[in-house]
Amino acid sequence: MKQAKVRLYVEHALGEGQTVPLTRDQAHYLFGVMRLGPEAELLLFNGRNGEWLATVAEAGKRGGCLLCHRQTRPLQCPPDLWLLFAPIRKARTDFMVEKAAEMGVARILPVKSAHTNAERIRRDRLQAHAIEAAEQCGGTFVPPVGELRPLERVLAEWPEDRLIMFCDETLAGARAGLGAAVRGKGGQGGKWAILIGPEGGFSPAERARLHALPFACPVSLGPRILRADTAAVAAMTLWQSTLGDW
Ligand code: SAH
Repeated sequence: MKQAKVRLYVEHALGEGQTVPLTRDQAHYLFGVMRLGPEAELLLFNGRNGEWLATVAEAGKRGGCLLCHRQTRPLQCPPDLWLLFAPIRKARTDFMVEKAAEMGVARILPVKSAHTNAERIRRDRLQAHAIEAAEQCGGTFVPPVGELRPLERVLAEWPEDRLIMFCDETLAGARAGLGAAVRGKGGQGGKWAILIGPEGGFSPAERARLHALPFACPVSLGPRILRADTAAVAAMTLWQSTLGDW
């Protein structure tokens, strides 16, 4: 059986005849871990120029160089969907970012709500998870991960033409599906965001504020209370199959 080609995310521009220098980590991964030698083929993407077939031009211990040949897939952007979530414990936050990159969101925005425990996030580490997920799932786009910002401020500056699928745990069991919310707003596709709360849920003040916002659509995710990471996956599935590109 032919082995699947290595897929690597690079920052560099990609195009026919383009040489792509490697960082020390990338050289270690390709030549030390994956054991690629000169002339070996691999696939590159940078989130902007689609996917390209490349070969190893120079392989060294601390660096090297690749040569880009032809485009194998065009850039495929996800629908204009943002995921807003309150970071929880590290492994579960990593999981949410990874799933968001796989399932197809355009931006990942960590928000600090009243009951969010995490004071800070490692944005670079979360971004690396999104890149790894895209490498693994054949994606050509990598959703940018934002800095942790207070939910209050994010809502104060919210672009009014973007609807929020507000996953409200107090609606568990209520008849408040996404379909009804979409019909209620008279909208279909277009710009959206999903909002998932932390383990402690939303505070009464946050909930009242969200229910009063004209662009927020309170939605139930079924009769059971889901953990935040499960809720994020369920919400993305629901949105993608109702309004997205699935
Ligand atoms: N501690 C809270 C639950 C928080 S669950 C409680 O016991 O009520 C974490 C987040 O997942 C929630 O803030 C919400 O955004 C989402 N969520 C979980 N289950 C949900 C459901 N059935 N309907 C809508 N949102 C849900």
